[in-house]
Amino acid sequence: LTVLGSLVLSLMVGVLCYYTLMLRQSPERALMRGIRHGEFFVEYQPVFHTATSAIAGIEALLRWQHPTEGRISPDLFIPYAEDEGLIIPLTRHLFSIIITDIPQLVQAMPRGAKLGINLSPSHLNAPSFHDDVSQLRAKLPGDYFTLLFEITERGMVEEENALAEFDWLHRQGIEIAVDDFGTGHSALIYLQRFTLDYLKIDRGFVNAIGQDTATAPVLDAVISLAKKLKMRTVAEGVETAEQVSFLQEHHVDYMQGYYFSKPLRIKALMEFCFDYQAT
Ligand code: C2E
Ligand code: CA
Ligand code: CA
Ligand code: CA
Repeated sequence: LTVLGSLVLSLMVGVLCYYTLMLRQSPERALMRGIRHGEFFVEYQPVFHTATSAIAGIEALLRWQHPTEGRISPDLFIPYAEDEGLIIPLTRHLFSIIITDIPQLVQAMPRGAKLGINLSPSHLNAPSFHDDVSQLRAKLPGDYFTLLFEITERGMVEEENALAEFDWLHRQGIEIAVDDFGTGHSALIYLQRFTLDYLKIDRGFVNAIGQDTATAPVLDAVISLAKKLKMRTVAEGVETAEQVSFLQEHHVDYMQGYYFSKPLRIKALMEFCFDYQAT
């Protein structure tokens, strides 16, 4: 009986170990497999000049269509990839998808359009960073697009290095945006230390326009701060006409959001741009 008992027990322990291992390993394996099997794709969200309503560029957003789990949100898999050291292969994969879309993007976008790509701060500190960026740049047609890297302050610790990398990017003609401004802990210090080109006003602020009377003065302060720092402003998550008029009146430079367009797959983006330019 004791032999049987210990057998059952070791079997249970074995099964338990197996599951813990699987749970621990499988997301990582799933992500790498997803890259190999083409489960990732990109959606592009158009960005508009506030003053003229013309299309100014796009932001590329990564999507994961898992075969059994369905759509997995980037808010889940991006932080996971960052924590597990997979963000670099994933970002390289994103670059390669964008490269295959370049011929269509050229047709859809005006010359000089901004091609916005989200970068994880940890990528900036990686030894392969320059090579990764140079390989992407080599595939872009001449000066047709202006590359714009969007970076959040979360995880941005190696300040000296960040300064050097921002400098290097600027020398390559690449622009930099502070993403999700207003949500971090050190946003102001961030602005004080670095010379960056764009400030993206977090959608939480934009959302509150017209709902929360305390928002307008805060937004005003953010906008005038950006102006003083010679940064251009982008409002994200614009959903209503009321928000559009507020942002126009307050001279925010660019806008993006569902009010204009959701993020679109490349074919839908082309249709959107052709229709938009025709009207
Ligand atoms: P983000 O950079 O702030 O991107 C904007 C998010 O707002 C996107 O969510 C977009 O779909 C959503 N959005 C745009 N307009 C509206 C609107 O009018 N209303 C609302 N409610 N939402 C709007 P998404 O695509 O789920 O991405 C979430 C976050 O994941 C992004 O936030 C970004 O931080 C990260 N992310 C996405 N793709 C990539 C990527 O390729 N690399 C990296 N490092 N991060 C990425
Ligand atoms: Ca962004
Ligand atoms: Ca953002
Ligand atoms: Ca965000």
